[in-house]
Amino acid sequence: MSITAIPNLKASPKEVLSKDEELLFVSLRARDWAEFCGQEKIKAALKISLGAARKRKDVLEHILLYGPPGLGKTTLAHLIAKEMGSQIKVTSGPAIERAGDLAAILTNLAPGDILFIDEIHRLQRVVEETLYPAMEDYCLDIVIGKGPGARTVRLDLPQFTIVGATTRIGLLSSPLRDRFGVIHRLSFYEPEALSKIISRGASKLGVPIDVDSTRELARRARGTPRIALKLLKRVRDVAQIKGDGKITRAMVDQALDLLEVDPLGLDESDRRLLISIIDKHAGGPVGIETIAATISEDIGTVEEVLEPYLMQIGFLKRTPRGRVVTPLAFAHLGKKIPPNLSQTKLF
Ligand code: ADP
Repeated sequence: MSITAIPNLKASPKEVLSKDEELLFVSLRARDWAEFCGQEKIKAALKISLGAARKRKDVLEHILLYGPPGLGKTTLAHLIAKEMGSQIKVTSGPAIERAGDLAAILTNLAPGDILFIDEIHRLQRVVEETLYPAMEDYCLDIVIGKGPGARTVRLDLPQFTIVGATTRIGLLSSPLRDRFGVIHRLSFYEPEALSKIISRGASKLGVPIDVDSTRELARRARGTPRIALKLLKRVRDVAQIKGDGKITRAMVDQALDLLEVDPLGLDESDRRLLISIIDKHAGGPVGIETIAATISEDIGTVEEVLEPYLMQIGFLKRTPRGRVVTPLAFAHLGKKIPPNLSQTKLF
């Protein structure tokens, strides 16, 4: 028996990218606003915020970007820095372990710098509390010494901007959320925007691709640029090994079959989640902990990576009693809706 490992195409929030993939995404990153397709409302709003700050010669307000992984939060942070002519320093919530780590980062910033904090919902509480005065008054309260002799010293910081990114806005404490002047939610992309991202990616990679193949990849990319680019890379590999390097519709179908990506873009992990609710829990409602345990995933991955798209396409619903699979998903998976499952239960 041969076991084929299906590469996980999705971007888990805690995903460690291979060197190759990291280089691919850096090389394909949108370098200017024109290359950043879709999210028109956010782009327009950001351009106003940036333009106004520049006109006033003022420091940009702190910006929070949230939404599922792979939708362009990191890319936007880089574009914001570029437009402001600022340097960007990149870190993440879990990387800042102690308040001292944060102090070291903040004291090394120059005026106008952008500090990008990915996964900001994973900041330690004590780090978060150190961040409040830094965000509000550009100062840092440092405790020197221990015990009764300890004293607090206030350190002035250069004026800087935090761009925070999170896949879980609900996990952000309200004092932290309130310190962001601008908050934007990134939504899944329409196939037209993904088509543009794919054809731009293909031309950067120097791979010829036809319109039909571009559209098909866009349709199957779960509304996510990162997945679109990963699929493009897989199809390029198939085209180079099995064809003459050109991406054609036949190559796309072959590569996506190999990856078990179905016509709606769902892959093995999406189907496993839906089928486990259908087969083991009669379609739901079922709690998130039970779902995660049944499919051996952690709750974060189910909530942040798998569920948002399934909810977006109307295959899954969150109800007060747990998750419920909808009739649309039953039909897509070729499953019969059990007679005892009334419509009221499904909705
Ligand atoms: P996030 O930080 O939300 O997880 P990234 O910014 O890392 O997502 O984006 C993942 C990949 O998708 C990058 O290569 C990025 O350039 C590309 N990408 C994301 N959004 C867009 C977009 N709107 N237009 C073009 N490319 C995009």
